[in-house]
Amino acid sequence: MADKWVFATKNPHKLAEVQAIVGQVLRLEALPADLPEAEEPHDALHANALAKAAFYGELLGRPVLAEDSGLFVVALGGQPGVRSARYGGPLRLLQAMEGVALRRAYFAAVVVAWWSPSKYRFFTGYLPGRVAEAPRGEGGFGYDPIFLPAGESRTVAELGEAWKQVHSHRAQAFQKAMAYLTTGR
Ligand code: IMP
Repeated sequence: MADKWVFATKNPHKLAEVQAIVGQVLRLEALPADLPEAEEPHDALHANALAKAAFYGELLGRPVLAEDSGLFVVALGGQPGVRSARYGGPLRLLQAMEGVALRRAYFAAVVVAWWSPSKYRFFTGYLPGRVAEAPRGEGGFGYDPIFLPAGESRTVAELGEAWKQVHSHRAQAFQKAMAYLTTGR
């Protein structure tokens, strides 16, 4: 197993969050800036994470960690889901949820550690909660200002980066990845 991993994202917020989560346990390298954006053509997080990892892994000839994530809203049949990045952001989602009483939603993250086309392993994390009525808070990115984790009265953007580093869907998935990659379990 390699001790140094390329982390396949072009999203600087994600890279910073993941670097903070894995700390000294995994040594991460950003993607070379000149590489193209990987396609995410599938309708499942696992398939998109794997496609991204394989794309960069084959290009670089190196082991790659990749992640795909999204916000799944129950009343919208799981939208924006795998299309969260392209959906139009929190304001569009609030519009779609206007007058909708059922606010339940969850963030999901799938991380894949990829060594070769025949050797890869998935790790998943979930953060259940609900869609807020209006955006609040400055931290985080994406849908953080409109997501209230279960049991919290503050949005993820209000709870901030230190909270996300421990509790987020991404943190949970990377905690599992770290455990496996350092102990084999
Ligand atoms: P992708 O994984 O790069 O396809 O993008 C996932 C998208 O889901 C992001 O661009 C955000 O819109 C949303 N998302 C994923 N994780 C988070 C999070 O921790 N906070 C807020 N939005 C998120």
